[in-house]
Amino acid sequence: MDFQESEEEKMFREAVREFAQRYVAPAWQEYDRSHEIPRDLIKKMADMQLWAPTVSEEYGGAGISMTMACIAAEELARADLSIALPVMYLVEASWALIFDLYGTHEAKSEILPRVTKGDLFFGIATTEPTGGSDLVNSTKTTIKPKGDNFVVNGEKVYISGVRESEKYGGVYWTLAKEDPKGDHKAFTAFILPLNLGDGLHPGITTTLFEDMGRMGVSTGGFNIEDVEIPPHYIIGERNRGFYYAMEGFSAARVLIGATCLGSAEGAFQIGVDYVKQRKQFGRPLASFEGIMFEAVQSWMALEADKNLVYKAAWMMDQHYREKNPSISKLDIAKYTAAAKYRTPHDALDIITRAMTWHGAFGYTKECPLEAAYRGVRSYTIGAEGGAHIQLIVMGREIFGKEYLPYRQKGQFD
Ligand SMILES: Cc1cc2nc3c(=O)[nH]c(=O)nc-3n(C[C@H](O)[C@H](O)[C@H](O)COP(=O)(O)OP(=O)(O)OC[C@H]3O[C@@H](n4cnc5c(N)ncnc54)[C@H](O)[C@@H]3O)c2cc1C
Repeated sequence: MDFQESEEEKMFREAVREFAQRYVAPAWQEYDRSHEIPRDLIKKMADMQLWAPTVSEEYGGAGISMTMACIAAEELARADLSIALPVMYLVEASWALIFDLYGTHEAKSEILPRVTKGDLFFGIATTEPTGGSDLVNSTKTTIKPKGDNFVVNGEKVYISGVRESEKYGGVYWTLAKEDPKGDHKAFTAFILPLNLGDGLHPGITTTLFEDMGRMGVSTGGFNIEDVEIPPHYIIGERNRGFYYAMEGFSAARVLIGATCLGSAEGAFQIGVDYVKQRKQFGRPLASFEGIMFEAVQSWMALEADKNLVYKAAWMMDQHYREKNPSISKLDIAKYTAAAKYRTPHDALDIITRAMTWHGAFGYTKECPLEAAYRGVRSYTIGAEGGAHIQLIVMGREIFGKEYLPYRQKGQFD
């Protein structure tokens, strides 16, 4: 057991921290207001090989491990407390990786080099108006063979990066059913070309939602009407899309853990610095145990979450890179769900405490903590699976599949 980062990981963390503190920290409050991350910042990240860095070198990525990908997410969020930029980063670092694992060489050669250069957004689209938690029953979007191609019809909602994709180009890792009445074995995964750089694909119309936080990245939706997909855009085997999606969720969830950890660490540091210098009753606030003990609670939560996030990342690396047979995809799902559940909830507590220590200033928009609060709150609700769904995933692994609540069929039919 080794709780230290390797030399390579340490150097990588230092390089990303330097980059993030130099370019992201001074910019994020402005893009939280303007609702758009500057393109030149994305380009700078791509030049540093930080855009979809988990993609293999063959397709323009850096082929970094999940541990390193988490280090980058943590450092980016420490610099951008609103987590808008880390959200864009993590969606691509997870879903482009699953595309790289199972996509066709032809589609990967066409799409991934443009993604890693920061020219094309690579998103995920599974949620539909009928719901995101119960994918099997809520997914109404269909994909059907048509000659050599496939044709897709349906609607996806609450999707990250729609405005950016419409404006600059973007594709989505998408799930649809071949048989609308089928179960999880009816899902096929594919690339939906929302905008390949020459405008919205015929048959696509978009909508936007106004979120409460992480304002630098958009959330929207799109209608898909008779959109034709070439066969090489199918990801992996037809009717196995649900299984690939579960792997993608695991990758995204550990990166969400790292992101919320970074934002909470940034907020904690701001809070600690403040209570050391702010005096009331003739003493620094930090010297009152009421404040100091809260800070210690925050520190303990950060330490526990750090261990959880990096253990989950390590498990992914053991499985995917080291081919360690003792760590299964289900083990990974359990730990990544734990990281996705615990870290945003703890981060919210840590940020809330630090806001309170600032008194009235903590409730103003001049204080960076309110943007952290608004951003991190998204991950205690939805995005890559709601909080309750993480508990169900862990419960399934603790008790066994037969205890899954949704297996108790028939009661509400
Ligand atoms: C900011 C943001 C960005 C997002 N980006 C994307 C994206 O890029 N791509 C994408 O596909 N989706 C995205 N989502 C959608 C997200 O994945 C869904 O919100 C999530 O899956 C939950 O689906 P829902 O919102 O339809 O809620 P529902 O599925 O209707 O669930 C409503 C509530 O009930 C809870 N619930 C559901 N089932 C159970 C149960 N069995 N027991 C107890 N509680 C339960 C849920 O946890 C939730 O709190 C995003 C969401 C947010 C908030």
